[in-house]
Amino acid sequence: MAEQGQDNFRDTIGTLNEEGKRAWVFPKKPDGKWYEYRKYVSYVLLLFLFSAPFIKIGGNQFLMFNVLERRFNIFGYPFWPQDFHLFVIMMIIGVVFVILFTVAFGRLFCGWVCPQTIFMEMVFRRIEYWIDGDRGKQIRLKKMPWTKEKIKKRALKWSIFFLISFLIANVFLAYLIGSDQLIRYITDGPSKHISTLVSLLIFTGVFYFIFAWFREQVCIIACPYGRLQGVLLDNKSIVVAYDHKRGEKEEGRAKFKKNEERATTGKGDCIDCFACVHVCPTGIDIRNGTQLECVNCTACIDACDHMMEAVNLPTGLIRYASEDNIEKKEKFKFTPRLKGYTAVLGILIAVLIGMLFLRNDVEARILRLPGQLYEHKADNMISNVYTFKLVNKTIEDINDVHFKLASHKGTIEVVSGNFFDISGQGLAEGTLFIEINASAIKSDKEQLEVEVYSGDELIETTVTSFLGPRTYR
Ligand code: SF4
Ligand code: SF4
Repeated sequence: MAEQGQDNFRDTIGTLNEEGKRAWVFPKKPDGKWYEYRKYVSYVLLLFLFSAPFIKIGGNQFLMFNVLERRFNIFGYPFWPQDFHLFVIMMIIGVVFVILFTVAFGRLFCGWVCPQTIFMEMVFRRIEYWIDGDRGKQIRLKKMPWTKEKIKKRALKWSIFFLISFLIANVFLAYLIGSDQLIRYITDGPSKHISTLVSLLIFTGVFYFIFAWFREQVCIIACPYGRLQGVLLDNKSIVVAYDHKRGEKEEGRAKFKKNEERATTGKGDCIDCFACVHVCPTGIDIRNGTQLECVNCTACIDACDHMMEAVNLPTGLIRYASEDNIEKKEKFKFTPRLKGYTAVLGILIAVLIGMLFLRNDVEARILRLPGQLYEHKADNMISNVYTFKLVNKTIEDINDVHFKLASHKGTIEVVSGNFFDISGQGLAEGTLFIEINASAIKSDKEQLEVEVYSGDELIETTVTSFLGPRTYR
């Protein structure tokens, strides 16, 4: 562990030993006010995470990310491949929001909301405490030979971990392919959907690997958001921080002696008990300052508050605070940097709302058949052949659909019949011919406007090109 005033802790990470091998972290079970709050938040989030793919709004799954078919539902609002630009704007808004939040409140997201932390600390770790016991017992168990007791505990823990990983993989799949499809696959039986079962087992393996073995390494090594902290945080960001002014004072931290009046000794309030270190799930010492590994889980706040209460000192030696708050007693300020991010966020949200209002329920695309020229027919009629595709983005059927040529006098003939229906969330595609009298064509490549009707209601307008002979130019 680093000595006071030395920066050698930056040369290594807490989860690697001197030989560069993994140093397994055995965090002490957190206990305290913040841990209780986090438990409640995690119950709500877990409930949301497990139920969101099974909630429907207007027949649409509340959240779905079907990357294979490029169909996404966000808060029950369906997005099709044609709406990809909207999806991208939503993603950018999400990123800007997280940046803004991080600049102001550090890694609050990591400690309180991130599924990795929620599952690791509030599900898997708690099962581990239940089976293996707290830190001391876990260390002893790890060192123990493979006795009957150890085999029993390990088998029980790993089986439960596997079952939960399998459950998470199922829910993950419900987000990917849709809960209706998942339920259909389950009721059909796995033998009829072997490839899905294989994917499910691969996901299960990945989750098991992460939560049983890889653990805090996700936050320390793999997570790109974690790596961004160095860029996003500044002296005004509120993070879980050790009040080094109070903790060290003139004479630095020192062990607590019985009946000592610490305030009169010149020693800092930190009693060097290492409670904050032992409780840390990423194996760091918060007294070394803000570190990339800290996921702001608040466990060290609770641990330190317990120690402060035990030695009759004020709590809050480790607390949510900015560097400026600790150094200069400055309160939270809405800095120009925050104002800038807020303005960008506001503009993006306004653009998204505008685009959502302009979005049609039906998307129509009419394209000339590649490689085909025009055909000169009887009565001086010019004919072009097209393929069309109509996407119904709603969950309602659209009936009596037909086309009208809006920009020119002419006819549209759909090969399969001029009137047709499109089922909810379905699409209609086929071939059609457009015929226009040569006298109405002014160039060899004319722009046409085509209207799509459902009964008498205009539901979409689209444009396409029409080829004619050069002599009409
Ligand atoms: S330093 Fe504190 S807040 Fe940060 S990860 Fe460790 S215990 Fe959690
Ligand atoms: S828990 Fe508090 S008193 Fe104990 S070592 Fe950490 S900062 Fe110091």
